[in-house]
Amino acid sequence: MHASVEKIPTIPQKDILISSQFIDFYQMKKLISPLILISALLLQLNGNAQPDQKLTRAIFKELIEINTTNSTGNTTEAAEAMAARLRTAGFSDKDIFVGGPHPRKGNLVATFRGSGVRKPILLMAHIDVVEADIKDWSFDPFKFQEIDGYYYARGSSDDKAMAAIFIANLIRMKKEKYTPDRDIIVALTADEEGGDYNGVDWLLTNHRGLVDAEFALNEGGSGQLNEGKKILNGVQLSEKVYQSFKLEVKNPGGHSSRPRKDNAIYALVQALNNLESFSFPLNLNDGTRAYFERSAKLESGQLAKDMIGVAQTPPAAGAEQRLSDTPYYNALLHTTCVATKLEAGHADNALPQTATAVVNCRILPGEDPEKVRQTLIGVFDNQDISVTAMNPAKPSPPSPLDPAVMNPIEQVTSKMWPGVPVIPVMSTGATDGAWTRNAGIPTYGVSGIFRDINGSGAHGQNEKIRIDSFYEGQEFLYQLVTELTNKSNVKRNR
Ligand SMILES: [Zn+2]
Repeated sequence: MHASVEKIPTIPQKDILISSQFIDFYQMKKLISPLILISALLLQLNGNAQPDQKLTRAIFKELIEINTTNSTGNTTEAAEAMAARLRTAGFSDKDIFVGGPHPRKGNLVATFRGSGVRKPILLMAHIDVVEADIKDWSFDPFKFQEIDGYYYARGSSDDKAMAAIFIANLIRMKKEKYTPDRDIIVALTADEEGGDYNGVDWLLTNHRGLVDAEFALNEGGSGQLNEGKKILNGVQLSEKVYQSFKLEVKNPGGHSSRPRKDNAIYALVQALNNLESFSFPLNLNDGTRAYFERSAKLESGQLAKDMIGVAQTPPAAGAEQRLSDTPYYNALLHTTCVATKLEAGHADNALPQTATAVVNCRILPGEDPEKVRQTLIGVFDNQDISVTAMNPAKPSPPSPLDPAVMNPIEQVTSKMWPGVPVIPVMSTGATDGAWTRNAGIPTYGVSGIFRDINGSGAHGQNEKIRIDSFYEGQEFLYQLVTELTNKSNVKRNR
């Protein structure tokens, strides 16, 4: 049977209906194709992935099983491991750099040389991961697990999948003797999740020449899946600015048996109650306006109407309010500030002398953090409350909807997933894109990795990534990077 399948010519549909011999063939084909599909899936699930995929899986597993948490981990070890793989694949030492400001906080920069017709592109992925306590997980978070169509582990979704894919794709390009028209730089970096040694910042400050590029691809954008169906392929063009403020009230205190009207805790609670019912003004940028306009086509009913309505100037009545009932849409439409920590009092039987709170804000690109602080002071409406910025804000300019980048993304998306729209997104969280954007390198969060709409456990318990999404993401990024570095596409993508 196997052989006959192969040799059988593609016969025009109408002929099949006439001769019985062809009907047998048709029956057989109907029988065979699901069989082929099932066996391919079985092969896949049994880890017998395609050769390239086998390598990618091995690289991913190796990266995952090197603990790179801020507390006890070591990104230098992970960077060295990836450097060793590149050397084995034929990369010369002059194209590999491993270094960092701290022994446990190393970064890797690998360069795939091109013809230099155009400025390099930069592919970024952080290799540090957030902490994970084995007590909270169903299994060891630092052991690579394959269960029911998913790879599980800390960093599987954030962000070691992209790191492994970038390394595997560089090795594939080397094997295929690909000649790009510009250098392809891969940077695997430390301390994106926290810690004092952010690798992207360190490289831009101390080794700009190694990572300088016309634009960069980074985490932050991914495909959205709803009940297994591909909804959209998100491209992150901008991100909100992370800014925390410390609120503090001081009070003379005293004996709790004689309470007074003035009380540090009540003053703070009153201020936070004001914040609870306050909303910053609506503020859309090109990226978020495009997000709502394009997403409206994927929705229906009042939601679709409101998405179109809010993108209009002036916005349609009620659209902002209704959309703001959904936390994700609310975070796209406004700067947000929320209380995250509270601390007060020093003894059960004493009036509190100090009450403090942390208010974490996510500020829209283009809005001034100091103005946000002034607005909060107005909302708290109490001169006794001091409001201090806890971290230097890192505002970053949104990246433009540049056709030289967006067109290839749309082309590869429609080739791999016909009918799935590309939607610009703004991250409510922060990425290292803030550093590169501030350094004048437009940065696009794009991966082609489709994730369940209900989340992947990033930063949480049992973090996971779909196996099929992982390998599709690999193929997407491979095709995208070749599109972006292939001189024959220059004209087409202008
Ligand atoms: Zn991340």
